[in-house]
Amino acid sequence: MSTKRKIGLGIAGLLLMIGLILLAARDRLAQRAFDTAIEQNVGVDRSAALPDGIHVYVCGSGSPMPDADRAGPCLAVLAGRQGFVFDAGAGSIRKLGRMGFPMDRLQGAYLTHLHSDHIDGLGELLLQAWIAGSRGTPLPVSGPTGTDQVIAGLIQAYKIDSGYRIAHHGPAVARPGGFGGTAQIIDLPEGQPSKVVYDQGGVKITVIRVIHDPIKPAFGYRLDYKGRSIAISGDTIYAPDFVTAAKGADVMFHEALNPKMIGAMQEQLAKRGRADSAKIMADIPGYHASPEDAARAAKEAGAKALVLYHMVPAPPAKLIERLFVGDAPKIYSGDLRLAHDGILVHLPAGSQAVDYSEAF
Ligand SMILES: [Zn+2]
Ligand SMILES: [Zn+2]
Repeated sequence: MSTKRKIGLGIAGLLLMIGLILLAARDRLAQRAFDTAIEQNVGVDRSAALPDGIHVYVCGSGSPMPDADRAGPCLAVLAGRQGFVFDAGAGSIRKLGRMGFPMDRLQGAYLTHLHSDHIDGLGELLLQAWIAGSRGTPLPVSGPTGTDQVIAGLIQAYKIDSGYRIAHHGPAVARPGGFGGTAQIIDLPEGQPSKVVYDQGGVKITVIRVIHDPIKPAFGYRLDYKGRSIAISGDTIYAPDFVTAAKGADVMFHEALNPKMIGAMQEQLAKRGRADSAKIMADIPGYHASPEDAARAAKEAGAKALVLYHMVPAPPAKLIERLFVGDAPKIYSGDLRLAHDGILVHLPAGSQAVDYSEAF
């Protein structure tokens, strides 16, 4: 073998060895990163560090339109040690899990109305409340007439799965009594705009009639705890009863549909011969609030902050957000924000502060 060839082989061998060492180091680094992530995150109650007060988890800020970044409408609230979920859109319960919401503190779920995009994630919520929440009794789910039918259907659909889990993990872990939900129909008599539906441990929840015709009834909610308060619109046009019941709330969470943007989509669909889809686009602005309507509601209620949380169409980028809100900032001079999945809104007790953080 020539000296040149020998040197060449030597260098190749050296490079191979360096490569193998680097590969082994990469695997060690990856293992270390994985171990650290497990140690810091798995089984940790991230809510334990939160101060006493109201904490709102935006688990879904999207519309019924498919969106890779936004789950369907969902707000979860931690008030002191008690948890509540308001609507469970598609994908929202996974977001809630990622946000570290303490499922074992969940007292109940509240539905604004029974449009599919608000209940698509309800089956998953029942499962998570049962298993992750270690429940021994079904989750109470409050909502309008028909909630009982929805819950009965979900119980039927997931009955087989519940059998697998009880058999696999044992009844001490998958407590048979905790599977499913108990529907609690909210009866708000005609002419009565609102009433208290929960009042325990300092947390008061008020149901409010909103206007989402032809869907009747449709509800909004208000939650009060230790002098702090939030109001949730559900789906509605500008609704005077909602404004009245939301008076003085610290933060108003309101839906919003931008009619110009939906109009542009309608035109495009019509041009492409998609008449059915164009008709749907023409129908929906009539039962949603514009960003300006939401701004008016927040202004008249005297809310410190307005968070648009169920947006149609949900703006895909910051630049579009300015277009989406239209003239809303001219109407409402308080803190106006567009929610995205994963944000938390904090209202500490004994303070006037409204703080925001991001879980991911
Ligand atoms: Zn709706
Ligand atoms: Zn909706």
